Amino acid sequence: MNANWNFDNSYARLPERFFTKIRPTPVSDPALVVLNRSLADELGLCAEALAGEEGVAVFAGNSIPEGAEPLAQAYAGHQFGHFNMLGDGRAILLGEHVTPNGERVDIQLKGSGRTPYSRGGDGRAALGPMLREYIISEAMHALRIPTTRSLAVVTTGEVVIRDKELPGAILTRVAASHLRVGTFQYAARFLSKEELQALADYAIKRHYPNGEHAPNRYLFFLEEVMKKQAALVAKWQLVGFIHGVMNTDNMTVSGETIDYGPCAFMDVYDPTTVFSSIDTQGRYAYGNQPYIAGWNIARFAESLLPLLHDEEEKAIELAQKVIAQFPTLYETYWLQGMRAKLGLWTEEEEDKKLIGELLHLMYTYRADYTNTFRALTINEWEFCEQEFRDWHTRWQQRMARQDMTKDEVYERMRQHNPAIIPRNYRVEEALAAAAEHGDDTVMERLLDVLKHPYAYTKEQEEYAKPPAPSDRPYKTFCGT
Ligand code: AMP
Ligand code: MG
Repeated sequence: MNANWNFDNSYARLPERFFTKIRPTPVSDPALVVLNRSLADELGLCAEALAGEEGVAVFAGNSIPEGAEPLAQAYAGHQFGHFNMLGDGRAILLGEHVTPNGERVDIQLKGSGRTPYSRGGDGRAALGPMLREYIISEAMHALRIPTTRSLAVVTTGEVVIRDKELPGAILTRVAASHLRVGTFQYAARFLSKEELQALADYAIKRHYPNGEHAPNRYLFFLEEVMKKQAALVAKWQLVGFIHGVMNTDNMTVSGETIDYGPCAFMDVYDPTTVFSSIDTQGRYAYGNQPYIAGWNIARFAESLLPLLHDEEEKAIELAQKVIAQFPTLYETYWLQGMRAKLGLWTEEEEDKKLIGELLHLMYTYRADYTNTFRALTINEWEFCEQEFRDWHTRWQQRMARQDMTKDEVYERMRQHNPAIIPRNYRVEEALAAAAEHGDDTVMERLLDVLKHPYAYTKEQEEYAKPPAPSDRPYKTFCGT
């Protein structure tokens, strides 16, 4: 049986300092844990073949499919504000699969062994974090948020040593590309202007082909990436997603969410929420994400300076003019999304205030973010506090000022307020069953309900419940 892989590897045709050709390190005893059959279909791949011995050998890095040219990508990045040389330390890009519709996607193995960029690391990944990325990236996709996808997770039959011995695993990740802000930082810092330009031309051709004939294509590119990032982070904020490690190497130029390490969804609304155990200063707290996205875009702009104009001063001026628009752009996207969440079709000056008041009340009374909007959407508003009731009245009055039927309003709300998100305790429960007890059924059920977050079905109700109160704050750990 043929899996229908169809590789054409444009990244491998970039100047050679952008990568190191290297094969995954074979593993002793691969076994399939989960395969994303619907994604396989979308990509024109044969799920049956992928689930077979040869398919699994590819996911494990034991076999290289025809046409693939495995390599590790070079990149740099600001990690918690500090610039470092990085690169794929535990990932291998097999190449680009071109789907029957002509769409080009990166196929990457994560956890596939050491590379020249591994520094002290073992190049491997543990099963729990790889399943976590699988669950959350697929949930994000279902929430209609641009994201890398997960095609499969296999175990390696080997252990990885973290604070204890854990089962090793490899995730097959599918992405529009793995070009990062950090890829541009790498070129700007360590390579020639010609190489930087080759990278930019490549990225424009691959992701922003309309810019190929723009008067200043690099300025166009900067603007487009900025728009994509502003739109993306607005979407994160609207569903309460906290990425957890918004380093510049974890920010794609395609505008997809990437690298699900310590990410998690917020329960109670609180802008200071941080889940990551390593983010001790709260740099990547929920409320900071839009500012950090703007900071990252500024780093991106810096790396493009040599291409924006031959005179540095003029280049800086051009870049500053663009990035100064980020906050307004972000707010426009966010406000648009918030209006939709509240069933508002028209725009009024006072809307921002109305939204701000709701958020403030949620913060004050420690209300669950997702479920507050869910309650409004299904008309099951149960807040007893007078302030909440007053707000509800003002919202009703605001709605009366638009010429929309109740059905239209509630339909709009259902499309923008997820009935369910991957609640942290549910994800942990699924991971514990799968990674510690070899029972995948809990995860499979969770994946099933997360596929249709806007469906508002009866069987989802169980999954909409917020976590039981706990005195131990939820913590996530970097997916190493
Ligand atoms: P991340 O925090 O996953 O974005 O990774 C940051 C950098 O550390 C990237 O260059 C990774 O390739 C590298 N890295 C993370 N975990 C490992 C590991 N187990 N072995 C080698 N490199 C790693
Ligand atoms: Mg990363």
